[in-house]
Amino acid sequence: MKVFNFSPGPACLPESVLLEAQKDLLDYKGCGMSVMEMSHRSPEFEAIIKKAEADLRTLMDIPDDYSVLFLQGGASLQFSMAPMNLMNKHKRAFYVLTGAFAKNAIAEAKKVGEVVVVASSEDRTFSYIPELDRSMFEGDADYVHITQNNTIYGTRFTELPDTAGKPLVADLSSMILSEVINVRDYGLIYAGAQKNIGPSGVTVVIIRNDLLERSPADLSKMLSYKVQAENGSMYNTPPTFAIYIAGLVFEDLLKKGGVGAIQKVNEQKAAILYDYLDSSSLFRGTAEKKYRSIMNVTFVTGNDELDKKFIAEAKKQGIVNIKGHRSVGGMRASIYNAMPIEGVKRLVEVMKDFEKNA
Ligand code: PMP
Repeated sequence: MKVFNFSPGPACLPESVLLEAQKDLLDYKGCGMSVMEMSHRSPEFEAIIKKAEADLRTLMDIPDDYSVLFLQGGASLQFSMAPMNLMNKHKRAFYVLTGAFAKNAIAEAKKVGEVVVVASSEDRTFSYIPELDRSMFEGDADYVHITQNNTIYGTRFTELPDTAGKPLVADLSSMILSEVINVRDYGLIYAGAQKNIGPSGVTVVIIRNDLLERSPADLSKMLSYKVQAENGSMYNTPPTFAIYIAGLVFEDLLKKGGVGAIQKVNEQKAAILYDYLDSSSLFRGTAEKKYRSIMNVTFVTGNDELDKKFIAEAKKQGIVNIKGHRSVGGMRASIYNAMPIEGVKRLVEVMKDFEKNA
């Protein structure tokens, strides 16, 4: 049975991309070998990584004075790399605490310098985004860090903070390429690939070039944005196959009309689910309405046993991986770019049936 996979990541990929990869798996465009077997210095792979970067630049309208890096270590390594590279003038940064990944980012940054947590939504299990204003970001700091979409709690920043001129560093792991953003609003963007970009193993970093000058000269080369940028993400062997698949996803998204077009579909998908949640007398959404994510939709029945029963029933109906994160329970439907609208409609049908019979 074909399932609809609502996994938070690694997550579903467009079928067209998987078919294309299958077609090329043994013999990439007549070169007699798989992309997995190629030297990263080969002309074929050079072309793959260059095209992936160019397509990502088109999709996100990335200005020329920003570098695009394809790194390893997941978004979690960025929790360390961002402070190691950027937190070196004032040795201090401002963080907004909106979830478990923000907490991990803060913990790593504290090993490098002083972290000021300017606002937190921990008091209500991260179900909202705290109100922020410019006055919170006055004073010396090297940057401001946010997690723009909170995968576990189903919240997102609907507007960016006014950082009083400090570079904004943002974790876009669970929302990159899902809605139009202005790259110029950011100093540094990072995102693990395994939600909206491709398989795990590659992490996209987009950094404004003047910030590269902050990388300390004695930093381990692998951890230095400057070294990585100077070497076109090939200081060492990059995750070639993951970059290849990411490139196919970028191509596919361009064919589908780009980020603006997919944003409309994403908003439709989210509205279908949230409208039902708001009308249901059994299920309810857990994130505050104003801050609802359009990528991760979190909901509960209010009864753990019933939640479990629903998850099991949904699985029987081909709706898989909708269990909420172990720290919060309930359900979470991750509806990234590759989740077709039919999947969301099917989920709502299954929820309605369950509600009728509950
Ligand atoms: N940040 C966010 C917002 C995430 O959702 C995740 C993974 N789910 C991470 C960071 C950690 O990513 P990785 O596993 O790639 O280190």
